[in-house]
Amino acid sequence: MRRSKFIFVTGGVLSSLGKGLASASIGALLESRGLTVTFLKLDPYINVDPGTMNPFQHGEVFVTDDGAETDLDLGHYERYTTAKLGKANNITTGQIYDSVITKERRGEYLGGTVQVIPHITDEIKQSIISLANGVDTVIVEVGGTVGDIESLPFLETLRQLRWDLGIENTLYIHLTLVPFLATAGEVKTKPTQHSVMKLREIGIQPDILICRGEKELTLDIKKKIALFCNVQVESVISAQDVKNVYEVPILFSQQGLDERIVEKLNMWTKAPDLTSWEEIVEKAKNPKGEVTIAIVGKYVDLVESYKSLNEALTHGGIANNLKVNLDFVDAEEIEAQGPEKFLKKADGILVPGGFGTRGIEGKIAAAGYARKNDIPYFGICLGMQLAVAEFMRNVCGHDDANSSEFNPDTSCPVIDLMQEQRNVDKLGGTMRLGAYECEILDDSLAFSAYKSTSISERHRHRYEFNNDYIDEVKDKGMIISGTNPKRNLVEIIEIPGLKWFLGCQFHPEFKSRPQNPHPLFVSFIEATKK
Ligand code: GLN
Repeated sequence: MRRSKFIFVTGGVLSSLGKGLASASIGALLESRGLTVTFLKLDPYINVDPGTMNPFQHGEVFVTDDGAETDLDLGHYERYTTAKLGKANNITTGQIYDSVITKERRGEYLGGTVQVIPHITDEIKQSIISLANGVDTVIVEVGGTVGDIESLPFLETLRQLRWDLGIENTLYIHLTLVPFLATAGEVKTKPTQHSVMKLREIGIQPDILICRGEKELTLDIKKKIALFCNVQVESVISAQDVKNVYEVPILFSQQGLDERIVEKLNMWTKAPDLTSWEEIVEKAKNPKGEVTIAIVGKYVDLVESYKSLNEALTHGGIANNLKVNLDFVDAEEIEAQGPEKFLKKADGILVPGGFGTRGIEGKIAAAGYARKNDIPYFGICLGMQLAVAEFMRNVCGHDDANSSEFNPDTSCPVIDLMQEQRNVDKLGGTMRLGAYECEILDDSLAFSAYKSTSISERHRHRYEFNNDYIDEVKDKGMIISGTNPKRNLVEIIEIPGLKWFLGCQFHPEFKSRPQNPHPLFVSFIEATKK
């Protein structure tokens, strides 16, 4: 078996510099050279996974085929590469301690004092090394910023791994900020110097620096950073702001980042082929028109909360040569002032997934507004459930129809818990999660998009369409165009006769890629074209 190489990506100075995007872009570059890649995101928090965290705290929860609720960086990794990720690709401090403490109770460390070094670090090491089976490169990204107390055991593990695995098999890449100070009229390298100092204090000398900033670094600044941070000048990569996130791999490659990586890891590869990235960027930069999609949700102030959704809509736009403007509408504002004011300019309305009672009536009103005014409507998970509730109320005449999540006493629980969910007593990791098969009805909107009668999509929810009401909605003109064959669950609903009205119980956004846009998003955006 070929020996795997390890790339360790850390971040300094600030969070939110785009470490996930940088790691994903490195993956894209290595794949463009014919190498295989996989990823590991190490998250320093104590939660076992982000599934129980509020999107305001953590951004979107990304779901993998195997049903892991993971950090949104795994979304970047999957969008930029062909890597298939799952439970093993996102490890948290909580998981590491959970497993060490379980072993301790079993008596596996009998006689020993269990400590951060070596027990915690060995456990982390194991999760890194276990990913190396047959893949050319393992890209390991450490969450948080160098200097945080929480990430120390992870960084210590990475330090040790250089000596366990060999210099030629490991590479340290550090992402920092080089801010432009308007009052001084120049860019400042001191934060980068300090961040690298902090890394060296714990025994890691970065091999490559990726420097974020508004402007491209000049050669002089690169030389200064190289001198003070003890790296080659060619290993200082400028990561200035770009208009389109899919430019990042190209920007890196132009400065020889991939060249540097394969050189330092002593790998022989073909020359990089970035044609597909260039095509995406070209198309994204030259749209033939534009459409505005209103996204009616709760977490509208935080771009990170609907990351995959935003990307999937953009992909649908690129496929149709359209620029997609995203107009985030707070569902509670609709409750207060009615839908008209917020939705009248929208070419399409989308209600995404969500949890909790806040804003529910506003989302139902948005689905009703779309139906009555024949504006293309896309309901995802909660957005499907609420479109069904709206139909039940206003077309089938059950005034208080609802999901029992929001009104446990409704006389018409058209969305309800299945028996298995009623038995759940712990909230972490117990939803219907991950990939499930879905059979598609021919002669439906879903079929015209997927062009297949059998698909697989990712889920993350507890509530389901209540099959007691299937006949009634069908009588009134709604169709069930997708079902789970094994469990007889409703997966897709449509209202034929309208331009485009579709709701799905799964999250299609997780599987959309710039090079392979999701069929439902392509079809939805096409329908919103004026
Ligand atoms: N809250 C709903 C449920 O649990 C919808 C979840 C979602 O939209 N992901 O079923």
